[in-house]
Amino acid sequence: MPRILIVEDEQDLASLLEYNLKQDGFEVDVARTGAAAVARARSFKPDLILLDLMLPDIAGTEVARLVREGEPRRVPIIMVTARGEETDRVKGLELGADDYVVKPFSVKELMLRIKNVLRRDSGEPKPSSAGGKLTAPDIVLDADRHEVTVKGKPVVLTALEFRLLKTFLERPGRVQTRETLLSDVWGIDAEITTRTVDTHIKRLREKLGTAGDIIETIRGVGYKLTAP
Ligand code: CA
Repeated sequence: MPRILIVEDEQDLASLLEYNLKQDGFEVDVARTGAAAVARARSFKPDLILLDLMLPDIAGTEVARLVREGEPRRVPIIMVTARGEETDRVKGLELGADDYVVKPFSVKELMLRIKNVLRRDSGEPKPSSAGGKLTAPDIVLDADRHEVTVKGKPVVLTALEFRLLKTFLERPGRVQTRETLLSDVWGIDAEITTRTVDTHIKRLREKLGTAGDIIETIRGVGYKLTAP
C-alpha cells in the first residue's frame, strides 16, 4: 500500500489523520517537526507527504524544498494551511504542492484528495498516444520528458504551470473557465480562489514570452488557447 508521511505538530490532528489513513490501508509515518520530516522522508520514502506549513522549527515550504532537493523522484505533497495564510498558500503552489487543504478540513475530503493526487501522480509520466508531444506556434510540450521549449529553448515551469499549459494545448480554441481549470489542473473545486488561477496564468505567460500570447483572456469567463 502507498506510504504517507504526515508532518504535523498538533498531536491530536496527527493522531486522527494517522488513524484514518491506517484504516484505509495506508502505511503511515508521522513527523512533528520540519527537521524530523526531512529525515523521515529520506528513510521512509513516502509516496505522498501531508505537510503542515506552520511547524515549530522550519517553515513547511522550506521542508518541501529540502525534501525534493536532489531526489530523482518527485514526491507529491499536499500542503495544510491555517485559514488566511494566503502568502503561504501561493508560495506553496509555486513550490509545486500538488494540492492543499485549509484547516479546519474534513478528514473525508482530505482522504479523497490524497487518493486523487496519488492517482494523478501514478498516471502522469504515461506516454500519450501522440508520442507525448503537444505543440502550438513556437511552443513544444513533451509530456514524456516533462519538458517545454519555446522557439527551441527550454523553459523551466513548475509542475502546476506545466499541467496548466498542457491543459490549454490539449483543448485549443475552447474557452476554459477558471472553475474548469481549478478542477482539471488543481484537481480540486473549492477553497482556492480564482485569483490564484489568474496569478499562475500570468506567470506562465511571462515564462513563455511572446509565445504566451496564444493564451487569451476571455473577460469575465476564463481563458482560451487561440487555435493556430
Ligand atoms: Ca502546525
